[in-house]
Amino acid sequence: MKRDARLRRRCAVPFGLLALATAPLHGQAAAAAARLHPAAIEAYIRYLSDDALEGRGTGTRGGQVAAAFIAAQFRRMGLEPAGDSGTYLQAVALLGRTPSPRVSVDGAELRYPQDYVVAPVTDDTVTRVAGEMIFAGYGIISPARGWDDYKGADVRGKIVVVLPGDPDSTTFDRLTGRPWVAVREKADVAARRGAAALLVVQSEDRGGVPWQAVQAFTHERISLAAPTQHVAFWGWLSDSAAAALAAQGGQDLERLRTAATRRDFRPTPLGARLEAEIRTAVRRIPTGNVVAKLPGRGPHAAEAIVVGAHYDHLGIGEPVNGDSIYNGAEDNASGTAAMLAAAEAIAGGRARPARTIVFTAFAAEELGLQGSEWLVRHPPAGLRLVGAFAMDVLNLYGRTRDIGTVGVKQSSLGALIRKAAAAEGMTTNEDPDDLRRGRFFRSDNYAFAREGIPAMRLVNGVDFVGRPADWGRQQRERYWNERYHRPNDELAPWMSMDGIAQQARVLVRAALAAADTRSPPAWAPTSDFRSPDPGAR
Ligand SMILES: [Zn+2]
Repeated sequence: MKRDARLRRRCAVPFGLLALATAPLHGQAAAAAARLHPAAIEAYIRYLSDDALEGRGTGTRGGQVAAAFIAAQFRRMGLEPAGDSGTYLQAVALLGRTPSPRVSVDGAELRYPQDYVVAPVTDDTVTRVAGEMIFAGYGIISPARGWDDYKGADVRGKIVVVLPGDPDSTTFDRLTGRPWVAVREKADVAARRGAAALLVVQSEDRGGVPWQAVQAFTHERISLAAPTQHVAFWGWLSDSAAAALAAQGGQDLERLRTAATRRDFRPTPLGARLEAEIRTAVRRIPTGNVVAKLPGRGPHAAEAIVVGAHYDHLGIGEPVNGDSIYNGAEDNASGTAAMLAAAEAIAGGRARPARTIVFTAFAAEELGLQGSEWLVRHPPAGLRLVGAFAMDVLNLYGRTRDIGTVGVKQSSLGALIRKAAAAEGMTTNEDPDDLRRGRFFRSDNYAFAREGIPAMRLVNGVDFVGRPADWGRQQRERYWNERYHRPNDELAPWMSMDGIAQQARVLVRAALAAADTRSPPAWAPTSDFRSPDPGAR
């Protein structure tokens, strides 16, 4: 109570009109948080994770029923539709692409899939590319870390060949920096420079993904319709194939590899020309985001804060102990329920912050953050996305003293979460375990971060009220080892809505605050996601 009184007094000091405009929100945020109903959260989870919804698989009837349910809730809450043509549904152009490629270098055909695999990015059934090959080190441009593998080299129309990952873990932040282990990041850098294609030299013992994992790309890959700026395809070259073709052009792959570890590395033409023809079986997968908005008022209303959670899960799959429905109660009926409860708590009051709040249930997260990427590419009409909170797997185990966060140090959203947690009598923690598991990149917050929009993710705290010190971490391990992506990720009688209700209250406060600060959310000066790519065309 004391804290609230102090805040109110501080805001009463006339900072100017903008500060005055924000003053009434402090009381509103507390009222909104108090309106949050744990029973409603439980009802949402119970419905979404029911066997009748068949695991909410992307492109399935169960997924459609979930979307219709969420849209109906938004309507009941009085939120405005922010999907396609005045509805709550935003269709996501999701495609399955199965490639049959032929690739030759200087006229000699490479063996498929022993020497290479490709992922076509175009929407065409035939993709043809021909161009010079150029080795661009690790393919990284990172102003924040003083690293530029391109050095302004002209790669337009060329096939850029790069090494996997990054050159060293001290220069690069593998936990919350740009994940250079993701081929997609490197393909984006190449695409912004007009490259025709990007190939990563696959070397398992040097930080690449296992060749077996790479071989998955011979099957169908599900991803979005091609963006405006894109390479025609990206893929992997085996270590031996790369070494052989470098040698043909009078280059030594080992020497290039060594050179690439230095800041002064310059792109090196490989003296070879690649020709590719990829025939692709393309299949459309019907799915969509569910999007609603609470319009802001005043001059910042076109700026939008996203509060989102993915509603899709794995659908029906391999049976385990006779159960084939992957209910996804924790992953992510829980996050969807918290998003809905937060929307209800905010919409039910009189708080009308300066910025618009966009509530979104994301589609197809399990297939690679597809729905959130689509929203980033296609924000609701008239809105610019300036910040995002994502929820994925929330706390169904009881009350905690802390709230878990991922990316809390990356942007000004972190301070808002800390303040919101403090108002609920909680601390925030960012567990190194979560970061080591790559949890900053494995959910929808990353789709925003990748495009420069400050974003973070709420996860579970570990300090449970009335439990031994290590109980929270044990629960988390049990979830990862026993229920994660299994049919028994279900609502169980021992579970409690107290923890998720705390998380949703913190979310309500933080979202209202982010929608009403004088400046929009900003990345921390040290964050990789802050710097725009300077050489981008
Ligand atoms: Zn999830």
